[in-house]
Amino acid sequence: MEIKAKKSLGQNFLHDENVLNRIATSTNAKEIDLIIEIGPGKGALTKKLKAIGATVLAFEIDERMIPILHELEDDKTKVIFKDILKVDLKKELSNYTYNNLYVIANIPYYITTPIIKKLIDSGLDIENIVLLVQKEFAERVSAKEGCKEYDSLTVYLNYYYKISKLFVVKNTCFTPVPKVDSAVIKFEKSSLKVSNEDKFMKLIDDAFRFKRKTLKNNLKGYDWSKIYSFLESKGFKESVRAEEISLEEYIELTEYLVK
Ligand code: SAM
Repeated sequence: MEIKAKKSLGQNFLHDENVLNRIATSTNAKEIDLIIEIGPGKGALTKKLKAIGATVLAFEIDERMIPILHELEDDKTKVIFKDILKVDLKKELSNYTYNNLYVIANIPYYITTPIIKKLIDSGLDIENIVLLVQKEFAERVSAKEGCKEYDSLTVYLNYYYKISKLFVVKNTCFTPVPKVDSAVIKFEKSSLKVSNEDKFMKLIDDAFRFKRKTLKNNLKGYDWSKIYSFLESKGFKESVRAEEISLEEYIELTEYLVK
């Protein structure tokens, strides 16, 4: 029986074999590793992940997929029919032993940011996250300072994971064909560390608050002369905007302010 795609669940099924293979093999996952897949749908990517030989744990919300996905289950592949945003990931993984942990998925775009935040907040030690996302989102989170797409989410996410855009996926690779193109992004665990994360996150939020304003105007309430003496030493003018400053410089600035 043909299962009709549900727009409300972000269902655009990937059918391009070449793209599916490239996504599945975009990490160094091995047989002793565990891969989390989010939204396996009809199992096109799940089949490729199984071929790696790693343990695969997939979370799907749509119970209409039960008969299709049960066919793919075996000793190393399990599908859990739950909303990924409501799952206790640490608990679900507690019975598994593995070497490295990966997330590889063609996710529902309507919950892209909540899914990534959930993975970061899960407390799990995830080596790489590879996601197929909307192209605009991919460009935003992989943007470098000075680009118009670079914003607080870019800085926030790249603090935890170095994000790079791997390749673009044309909308014709999906059924039904979505209006937008997509891209595959890769998150690699970062070793960046700031001594006071709360202060760093607040600084980022405040710095990017109003896009049209200069940093000085967005950081009213901060000791601007102290901030500017740091920025001047880095060669910035007083009219500097939040998007000109790199992640590493925001970390350095936070350390300078808490000193
Ligand atoms: N992986 C399949 C593929 O590549 O063809 C399907 C990808 S489709 C873009 C997104 C999938 O995520 C759908 O199967 C949808 O039912 C599922 N999904 C949507 N919301 C979800 C949620 N909150 N938790 C788990 N899965 C969800």
